[in-house]
Amino acid sequence: MNHPETQAIRTQTQRSAHQEHSAPVYLTSSFVFDDAEEMRASFAEEKQRNIYSRYTNPNCAELVEKMCLLEGAQAGTTFATGMSAIFSTFASLLDNGDHVLSARAIFGNTHTLFTNFFPKWNISHSYFDVTKPEEIEDFITPKTKILYVESPTNPATDIADLELLGALSRKHNLIFIVDNCFATPYLQQPIKFGADLVIHSATKLLDGQGRVMGGITVGNEELIDQIYRFARVTGPALSPYNAWTISKSLETLAVRVDRHCENAKNLALVLEYHPKILKVRYPFLSSHPQYELARKQMSQGGNIVTIEIKGGLESGRNFLNAIQMCSLTANLGDTRTIVSHPASTTHGKLTAQERAEVGISDGLIRISIGLEHIEDIKNDIIQALNKT
Ligand SMILES: *Cc1c(COP(=O)(O)O)cnc(C)c1O
Repeated sequence: MNHPETQAIRTQTQRSAHQEHSAPVYLTSSFVFDDAEEMRASFAEEKQRNIYSRYTNPNCAELVEKMCLLEGAQAGTTFATGMSAIFSTFASLLDNGDHVLSARAIFGNTHTLFTNFFPKWNISHSYFDVTKPEEIEDFITPKTKILYVESPTNPATDIADLELLGALSRKHNLIFIVDNCFATPYLQQPIKFGADLVIHSATKLLDGQGRVMGGITVGNEELIDQIYRFARVTGPALSPYNAWTISKSLETLAVRVDRHCENAKNLALVLEYHPKILKVRYPFLSSHPQYELARKQMSQGGNIVTIEIKGGLESGRNFLNAIQMCSLTANLGDTRTIVSHPASTTHGKLTAQERAEVGISDGLIRISIGLEHIEDIKNDIIQALNKT
């Protein structure tokens, strides 16, 4: 049972007395005790067992066990959303006065957390460019506690050198945290390269069908214990139903991600020389500036392709308006192909200069390639390009 495909399918919470084949959903807020002594010992943590679903639940535990196997992690804990995983992970590990060193190109709400909320608790941050790792050490201060990256980045698909960052973290005694949402453990396992913790928005490729929200942090056991203690008191618990859904989805992670990547590579190759396009970015295209690094740390290129359309903002909007099949929506990593235009939507509040710093030009389109037939995806994208 040591292949990830098998682990994702065969890892299951202990069967109940009914001997069900597929795991049941444990929709219960609490769990009962046989007697006063068992209850006392459980609350005193002398006995490990479920007490209350804000703390632990069999469906959440099953999801944690699978994700630990897939990521090569010692322990983990689940959350209601990716953002609650990110917030709880940072909030539990950071003290007043601490400093976070983060890649500049990160998920928009994570950026807002650093800039609008952490200053309230006197937690500061600096941003570095993942494509210039030689500059990172300049930002490290005695107060720096966490080094944080996403790889590939959103939406530019820049690649962070995980092995190099892992070595820097050890040298400077930093906690190295990777948001592995875009790659999934099937393509990339940051812990192998020195990450202490890996965070996921399970809302994306882990569920992969655009149904439920969820988050998870896995990694070093002692760090996870601190995070878990913070979370069980503050309450961002994952619903058992969502945990069940995501755990079931992991059974098909490998086949889904294989097809996502095959479709994405195929589309990237077709678009590379399209006359309406200035540039196509996909980690597994040999034209990607960090192709070698991507090949070293990922087994395939993922499902995000970004294209830069000629004609800037206007063309970007025209492209979205001409799309017929693909979805215009905020999610990514769905069975359905999704197109978005960051400059007029998710990153519309940034100045053109700020957008440029994270690799978002006015004509940049992010495509989250789904599982539809590749010919249908290609046809829709190409007919829309021809109308820009
Ligand atoms: C979506 C996303 C998040 C946030 O996850 P939610 O489940 O929406 O809260 C965090 N990081 C990345 C890279 C994401 O794409």
